[in-house]
Amino acid sequence: MAKFRSSSFSLFGQRQPARLAEEDSVVVIGLGRFGSALALELMESGTEVLGIDGDEEIVQAHNRLLTHVVRADSTKEDTLRQLSVPEFSSVVVAIGGDIQANILTASLLIKLGIPNIWAKAVSEPHGEILRQLGVKHVIYPEKDMGRRVAHLVRGVMQDYIDIGEDFALVKTAPPREILDKPLSLTKVRTVHGVTVTAYHRAGQGWSYATMETVILEGDIVLVAGQTERVESFSRLP
Ligand code: ATP
Repeated sequence: MAKFRSSSFSLFGQRQPARLAEEDSVVVIGLGRFGSALALELMESGTEVLGIDGDEEIVQAHNRLLTHVVRADSTKEDTLRQLSVPEFSSVVVAIGGDIQANILTASLLIKLGIPNIWAKAVSEPHGEILRQLGVKHVIYPEKDMGRRVAHLVRGVMQDYIDIGEDFALVKTAPPREILDKPLSLTKVRTVHGVTVTAYHRAGQGWSYATMETVILEGDIVLVAGQTERVESFSRLP
């Protein structure tokens, strides 16, 4: 924290942060690998972003990539107020390495009454402290990615999304037994306990699956169900 000039900040961007706050924009604090990827993805999907980082070089690197980017120390309440952060409804704390700065920032955001705070935790005890402070959305990017990759490595899935409470969505090649007949005749739900929700066909893109859909060799299916069942399904020949 001492490395940042605390009483000042530099702003890049055309519009004032207060204006951004009115438009369901998101503040991303900490533009390291995780925060930067998150902020850029939000921009890509049409959400305006106010990025805050204490490092001048990082701020310069994000100039023009985010709606607004500011060099500032997020552990200073005055600074957050001057940047109109209390007027935003969603703020992500993506500071990882400096746990003290992460916790101080999260606790200030709670004090400022931000309704949706997302904070990155680097360990379970860290996450527990954030939860005790009142952060509703504690995220563990490394742990979550590790778990996700473990599922991908174990199976033959092309993608895996843990929905929570033992439920997952999997992108996988369809097993032979469901090919060339309407899904209603494959009994995929009764036999395997999973639901084929959508499918991808070369040249046609993604479509919703219905009971009448006939899956062909070369298609890719999106399957929902209990973690173990979707994993087993993706391993069928
Ligand atoms: P990643 O793995 O996402 O690259 P990390 O977990 O290693 O990041 P850090 O590098 O510690 O996390 O922090 C991410 C960013 O947060 C850095 O660019 C750093 O400059 C910024 N940062 C750290 N402390 C503060 C602070 N008090 N105010 C503003 N930005 C901060």
